[in-house]
Amino acid sequence: MSRIKNLDLILDKLASAKKVAMLTGAGVSAESGIKTFRDPDGLWAKFNPAELASADGFMSNQQLVWDWYQERRSIISECKPNAGHYAIAEMETMFEDFALITQNVDRLHQTAGSKNIYELHGNIVDNHCFDCDEPYLDDINPHDNKMPPCKKCGGRIRPSVVWFGEMLPEYDLTQGINAAEECDVFFSVGTSAEVYPASNLPIIAADSGAFVIEINPTATVISPRMHKVIRMTSAQALPIIVEELRKRTGK
Ligand code: NAD
Ligand code: ZN
Repeated sequence: MSRIKNLDLILDKLASAKKVAMLTGAGVSAESGIKTFRDPDGLWAKFNPAELASADGFMSNQQLVWDWYQERRSIISECKPNAGHYAIAEMETMFEDFALITQNVDRLHQTAGSKNIYELHGNIVDNHCFDCDEPYLDDINPHDNKMPPCKKCGGRIRPSVVWFGEMLPEYDLTQGINAAEECDVFFSVGTSAEVYPASNLPIIAADSGAFVIEINPTATVISPRMHKVIRMTSAQALPIIVEELRKRTGK
């Protein structure tokens, strides 16, 4: 088992923490087989996600955007949570107050058992009407590329993910900001911290006095603001932290 440098300091901070918050990004799901947007070898590497994942992209080529999401849904439907997701769900049970703020749309945190989750970018499972906003409640078969019409207005159905240029769900964002402001320890895990406003949460936490830890094999723009960086993958680092914390606290 790899060692985490200064693990004792992290365990001290966690052992005395009442409130813990964590921001996760696509890197947490990488070891489940779901590619991050910035992977150069993705099937859709020739397309720019910012153009596909937008209302403009949808209006200019609905079928292309729909096919892209169907492809992602079919990949995600075959993926399972990894050791990182399970460690996060376990960590939640060890604190009075644990908030998980995710940019991921794959729902793997829920599958792993996390409960107190704020989804900043929606999710890829739910759908609603692009034209009238009505939720579309039927299951979508990821292998069927025919776009279903809205049952209320006959309009275009889209996945309930937050596209570039769209507002984030207000409740989830407010809860995420509150958690960042109030927590004693904040983790930023598997995110490049380049997509605002999620990227600001670790900074808010640091400015509010939390001990801030980044888990990411690669340095990010926010790394210099962290009190501790762990250059390991989430599935490597998080189970070690949870196991050692359990030994320390006996919880
Ligand atoms: P990103 O692609 O910008 O960054 C991913 C980060 O994860 C990188 O910094 C990378 O170094 C790191 N990483 C890679 N493998 C890792 C691992 N095994 N463990 C820990 N870290 C690892 O992703 P982002 O910051 O989440 O932002 C991009 C946007 O893409 C978000 O808006 C998100 O909604 C969306 N997205 C979601 C998914 C998903 O739901 N799984 C997948 C791709 C993109
Ligand atoms: Zn409609």
